[in-house]
Amino acid sequence: MLTKAELTPHALELFRRVKLALPVEIGQRLSSNRLFVTHGSYNNLFLFDVWDSNQTDVLDRQHFKYCLGHDGRPSSPTNGYFHLWLNTIRIYREREAIVTTLDKKLPALTPKGFTFNRLDRAIDIKWSFDYPRNLATLPDLLLPRYVSLISAIHPVLMPIIDQFSTRLAPGERRAVVAKRGRIGFTHPGIRDPERVSEYTRSIRPSDRAALLKQFRYRCALCGADLREARHHIDHIKPFSKGGTSKRENLQPLCEPCNLAKGNRE
Ligand SMILES: [Zn+2]
Repeated sequence: MLTKAELTPHALELFRRVKLALPVEIGQRLSSNRLFVTHGSYNNLFLFDVWDSNQTDVLDRQHFKYCLGHDGRPSSPTNGYFHLWLNTIRIYREREAIVTTLDKKLPALTPKGFTFNRLDRAIDIKWSFDYPRNLATLPDLLLPRYVSLISAIHPVLMPIIDQFSTRLAPGERRAVVAKRGRIGFTHPGIRDPERVSEYTRSIRPSDRAALLKQFRYRCALCGADLREARHHIDHIKPFSKGGTSKRENLQPLCEPCNLAKGNRE
């Protein structure tokens, strides 16, 4: 397990070289973290983010970024990845128009070696690798990947970002977030408090545990053992297509099966 302090200088050196290697009109716009930071939910997952400094409120930089990850979780098949992470729920303005544009354009632009994943709530264009023993070789290893991904994708993102270069007022921002909450997480029109959990995207921890037990801790599609692996609770009929969070619409999946299923039934 590498530490954030070990990783950081090599990521900073990499980013310095990425900015120089990219076309200047792209490179000059990019900013990065000053260090690796710990993921909000996993204390063994470290992230080094790169984002567009013109990003104001179109999308928070936490949710619209190029990210180098160090994944120290035992379930992870490799300890490194580099990806574009684009949370499609959290876009602040013109969400549907932007997502439609991105869905249409990004699969064809995905560079060789990267995998395009359309998830229920995000677009993920990812390359996985193992960190080299000698971390000083990291910039050489990753530079071509950064340049191929950012130079392919960023020309599509730039006009979207530039269209919204003024910041939303706090009140406008709250209004967008409130509306987004209703659309993204709970089906509209549900008033009965007894039934709200069925119509809410998130799954209660007790339901999660019961479901895993019911499926004998195995992936519902491929049978992989989920006691060690990362798992997802899948809505069999996707939540975005009206599926509920009732037990009969839920199944545990391993990460590969969940990614392969995407937003399909
Ligand atoms: Zn599986």
